Parts: sequence; C-alpha cells; structure tokens
Amino acid sequence: MRHVAIIGSGPAGYYTAEALQKLYGDEVQIDMIDRLPVPYGLIRSGVAPDHQSIKAVYRRYEKVALSANVRFVGNVCVGPDVTVAELAGLYDAVVLATGAPNDRPLGLPGSDLPGVVGSAAFVGWYNGHPDFAGLDPPLDVEAAAVIGNGNVALDVARILAKTRAEFAGSDIVGRALDALEASSIRTVHVLGRRGPHQIAMTPKELGELGHLEAAAPRVDLADFPPEADDSLLEPGMRKSVAHLRDFAHLPRDKAKTIDFDFFAMPVAVEGEGRVERLIVERTELTDDLRSVGTGERYSIPCGLVISCIGYQTPPIEGVPYEHGRGRFANQDGVIEAGPDGGLYCVGWARRGPTGTIGTNRPDGFEVAERIHSAFPPGASGGKTGGLGLDTLLHARGVEPVAFRDWQRIEAAETGRAREGSPREKFTSIAEMIAALGR
Ligand code: NAP
Repeated sequence: MRHVAIIGSGPAGYYTAEALQKLYGDEVQIDMIDRLPVPYGLIRSGVAPDHQSIKAVYRRYEKVALSANVRFVGNVCVGPDVTVAELAGLYDAVVLATGAPNDRPLGLPGSDLPGVVGSAAFVGWYNGHPDFAGLDPPLDVEAAAVIGNGNVALDVARILAKTRAEFAGSDIVGRALDALEASSIRTVHVLGRRGPHQIAMTPKELGELGHLEAAAPRVDLADFPPEADDSLLEPGMRKSVAHLRDFAHLPRDKAKTIDFDFFAMPVAVEGEGRVERLIVERTELTDDLRSVGTGERYSIPCGLVISCIGYQTPPIEGVPYEHGRGRFANQDGVIEAGPDGGLYCVGWARRGPTGTIGTNRPDGFEVAERIHSAFPPGASGGKTGGLGLDTLLHARGVEPVAFRDWQRIEAAETGRAREGSPREKFTSIAEMIAALGR
C-alpha cells in the first residue's frame, strides 16, 4: 500500500486524488489535509457566489471524497500542527495543492491607506472565508476603482454593481449581501494598464455585464484599435472585444456605471487617512505589447480601491520557493524526489495563478503519473501514512474534522439558508466547529 498526503482540498487537490485513484486502484491511501474544517478551497471561497453552475463541480470532488481510500483531514494546519518534513516521514509522496490565496502586493505609494483592499480579501469577504469575514470594506462612497483586466476584476465589478434581487440563488454570505445592498457606490472604474486587445477577460463573463439590472458598462471607442484588427485575434478574445465594442452602444439609463478605462496605469493612492483618489498615468504600448507610461497623469476620485492583479502561493518553511513568480520552485510538479519519498506541487502552487478550474485536471493527472512511476504499487518502505498522522495529531491535541463532520457542517449551513439560497455559510472556524457540537 502506498500513502499519499495532499495538502489543500481545492480543485487541484481533488483532481490529483482522482488521478491517483485511477492509477493505483486500491493500492493507495490518500489523506487530504486542509487548514479549514471545510473542503473545496477556491470553489467555496474564490468562485463568485452568483456563478453556481461553476461551483457545482464540487459534486465531482464529493464522489472522490466519499471513496474508501480517500480521507479528508480538515482543521489541521501544516506548519503549526504538523510540518512538511514530518509528513514526508509518514507518506510516500506529499503533494502541495495549497493554491495561491495571497494577493500580489500593489506596491504603490499610498497603497497601505484604509480603503485599499486586494481581491483575495474582497472575494474572501463576500464568499465567507474565515480569514476575511471581518473585512468591512468601505461601501459608503460614490466610486470604486478596480485595478486589473482579468476575470477576477470582472467578478469584483459585477458583485459591486448587482442588486439584491440579482443575487437570488447565489450563496453570497448574508452580511456581505446586506452591506452591498446598502452601498452608495454608483461608479465602478475598471482600470487596465494595456488596451482592449490585451484584456484577460473571457467572453461569457464579460457578456454578463451587458445584462445587469441597475448597472451598465461603458467604454470609450477612442481606446480601441481599428475594428478590422479584431479579425487577427483568436476567437475567444475576438468575442470578448466584440462585447466591449457593444458596450459603447448600450443606453445610459441605469443608476450605476461600470466604466472601462484602458491604457490606465495606477501610480499612487492618495487621501487623508483613507482613500480619496487614485492617481493614474496614461500608457501606450511598446512593439512587444508592454505598457509604458506617457507622463500624462490624471486623478480618479474614489473611496475604495480593489486590486485584482493576481495572486501568490504562501511559502512554507523549508520548501524551495520562486519569489519572482510567487509559487513553489518545481520542475514539472516535482519539488524534490528520492527513493524514500517525494515532494510535489499541483495547480496554482505549481504553475502560478492562471487557467480555469478545469486546467487543474490535466495538471493533477500529470503529477499523479509522476508519483505513480516513482512509487509504483507495492509495499511502502515503513511509511505509516494516516495512522502515523492520527497518532501525531492526537499527541498534540489537534482534533481533525473528517468528511462526515463536514457533511454535518454543510447540513447546518443548508438548514439556515435564506430563501432561494443553497446555503448560509459559517464565516468563522469557531462557528463551523460549534455546528459539530464540539
Ligand atoms: P489575470 O487573468 O492574470 O489578470 C490580472 C490582470 O491584472 C491583468 O489584466 C494584468 O495586466 C493586471 N495587472 C497585473 N499587475 C498589474 C499592475 N501592477 N498594475 C495594473 N494592472 C496589473 O488574473 P486574475 O484576474 O486574478 O485571474 C486569475 C485566474 O483565474 C485567471 O486564469 C482567470 O481567468 C481565472 N478566473 C476565471 C474565472 C471564470 O472563469 N469565471 C473567474 C475568476 C478568475 P497585464 O495583462 O498588463 O499584465
């Protein structure tokens, strides 16, 4: 029997577990360790609450979780509760599937002012992640600036612009919904440091902005290259740009505006004790499509700045790390491998924060194949796997949350949901554990 520990129970972790099951059959025992008492990582805390069809992929992970050779070991924090080195002594392979939950720092003068938040924090807040439940972003302001031209910027702009009715059927947490309903934001500026042909937004998500109840997107066609150039774009991008062009012709009869500002590079945040304005420099593109400042600056009055400029994997002590790219140093998912055991990484912890949920599937399969060929089915040389982990955690007074415990937490969340919502999430670890009666 081989023993594998996967740290992190998001999409990358579950696709890796699924692949290991396919390759080893009954010849493997997999422990999925998560610092939270609840599984699914980005699916629960990152995917937008009004995108329930994307979130439904958790049903597939649930099937894996319920199989006999996979255990969820929640509420166990790698670092304080058990170290990677200890896990390496217990399992044939340890796989880091810890995602990229930290914001890349904005690093501008004034970006430490109250009212500047990263997308990880803002998204975590409306999705009920325990780390960000207390964020309380300033929504008592006229305008917000969203920095970045990726899908996260789109999610954030849409969530700021939706009405309460438009959240029907979503699992946005009640406190965030109430705060967003009371928000006085009327303009959401979405800032891209490059142009419409360089956006990282996908067509379906962009198209949604054209159909909001109380908000309309706005673009300035002067920012666009000649329309004939759109034919040079790959089909998805061409569709996205077509949506952007269509936005120019929408009626301006809605209370809120999502204002796309291209060739706009934020250079400073200013304000007395809180954000009052964002200073932006106009840019132009170099021949190799990088943005460079033109020296022309202007100011955008706003009371909230949300940077959606990408994420980083938190380093783990003793694990080689690539600081420039914000991920574990690895070669095709292998961090270190020897005859006695291997350390691997998958998903965003391996590649950096790019790709859709589905990208993690081939990624997980590839790394599972490497584990399988390094540690073929057979006796593991003295590794005790989950038994050893249980003994160690028990001695340290750590009480893990099993998958059946999570199912009780889930039932409690479903039971207290507001009408039309699938669940009302618990937003603190204490509440989650209390739901278990511990
Ligand atoms: P992303 O797609 O990499 O976009 C990051 C954006 O930030 C880019 O527009 C980038 O501009 C900009 N940026 C980076 N550094 C900047 C700076 N210093 N100043 C100004 N702008 C800066 O990242 P993301 O939006 O965080 O999304 C992460 C991944 O999750 C993506 O693969 C995304 O598609 C996926 N996702 C998918 C969905 C969905 O399918 N519904 C939803 C959310 C996220 P440059 O291009 O100029 O660098």
